[in-house]
Amino acid sequence: MNVRRKRFLFYTVLAGLFTLLFLFFISGLNSSTAPTLIEVQAEELIQSSVSTPVPAEVSSLPPDKPEQLLPAQVDTIPTATSSDQSDVIPAPTPSVQELTAPPQPTSVTVDTYMPNGVVTPSASSKVSIPVLNYHSVTMDPGNVVVISPAKLEAQMKYLHDHGYTPISLTTFINLIEKKSGHAAPDKPVLLTFDDGYVDNVEEAMPILAKYNFPATLFMSPGMVEDAGYLNWEQVKQLQQAGWDIQPHGMTHPHLPKLSAAQQVYEITEARKLIEEKLGTQADVFCYPYGEYNETTLKVLKDHGFRYAFTIDQGYTTNQQSPYLLKRLFINGEESLKAFINKLPKSN
Ligand SMILES: [Zn+2]
Repeated sequence: MNVRRKRFLFYTVLAGLFTLLFLFFISGLNSSTAPTLIEVQAEELIQSSVSTPVPAEVSSLPPDKPEQLLPAQVDTIPTATSSDQSDVIPAPTPSVQELTAPPQPTSVTVDTYMPNGVVTPSASSKVSIPVLNYHSVTMDPGNVVVISPAKLEAQMKYLHDHGYTPISLTTFINLIEKKSGHAAPDKPVLLTFDDGYVDNVEEAMPILAKYNFPATLFMSPGMVEDAGYLNWEQVKQLQQAGWDIQPHGMTHPHLPKLSAAQQVYEITEARKLIEEKLGTQADVFCYPYGEYNETTLKVLKDHGFRYAFTIDQGYTTNQQSPYLLKRLFINGEESLKAFINKLPKSN
C-alpha cells in the first residue's frame, strides 16, 4: 500500500469516527430534552391541579395490596379556601396539587428518636393493625382524596358486617404497646381523617355513629374556621361522638422546609391549642404531606410526643418506629372490592 492510499484510508476512518460522534451527540441532545411519558403525566397532573382553587392533601395511591408500595407519593396543599370575591363558601374540593418525593427515612436513625418510656417489642410479638387514612367526605368525582358519603357508608357497612372492629386511638396505643389486660378485639382497624374538613362532621360523623365506630381526626388548628374547615364547636361535636382529636401542624406546613424554631411552633402550638380547647391529651402527631426530617423527629421526642403517623403505605405494627407509623390511603375512586383487598382477612 502506498503512502497516498494509507493517507486516504486514515482520513476516511477519521471522518467516519467524527460522523459517529456527531450522531451520538445529537441523540444525546434529543433524549435529554424530550420528556419521558412519566414526566408528561406528572406535568399534566400538576397543571390540571393548578386551575383548581381549593386544595387539600392526598397521600400516595396505594395498590390493592398494601405490600406493593408505590415509590412516589402525591400530596397537595391544604391552604385555606378563603374567597375574597363572594360570600358563598365553597365546599372544599381537595385535589392533587403537587408531586413530592417521599420522605427519606433512610437518613434517619430510627432508634435515635424513640419516645421516652417506650419499650422496643421483641420480634416474636408482632402486632399489626390497618390504619385507614381518609380526608374529605363529599361528592367530587375524579378526586382520589375525596370519598363520597355513599362509598364511605358501604365501607363502614362492610367492616361492620364482616367482624372488623374500629377502635379508639387509646385502644390502638394499648394494643401496639401490648399492655396487659387489653385483649385485642376482633380484626381491629383504626379510622383516621386528615385535615379537618367540615364534611367530616356533616357526612362522616353520622355514618360512623350509625355503626358506633370511633375515629381519629388529625387537624391543623390554624385553619379552624377557614371556609370548608371545621370550627371548634364542630370539633367538639366530633369529640363527643367518640373521635380522638390530634395535631397535624398549626398551618399544615411542609415541615422539612422550616427552621427548627418554626417546626417547634407548628408542632407544639397545634398540640397546645387542641389540649386547651378540648381538655384532652394531644400527643400523637400526623405529618402534613407525610413530610418530616431529623429535626421534626427530634422536636417530637423533645416534647414528649408518643407516636406519629406518616403516609407511608402499609399496616401499622409495633415493630415500626413510633414516629414512623404507616397507614393505608383510601382512594375515593376505588371500588369496594379494592377496599376489601386492603384489609387483613383475619386477626
Ligand atoms: Zn393533611
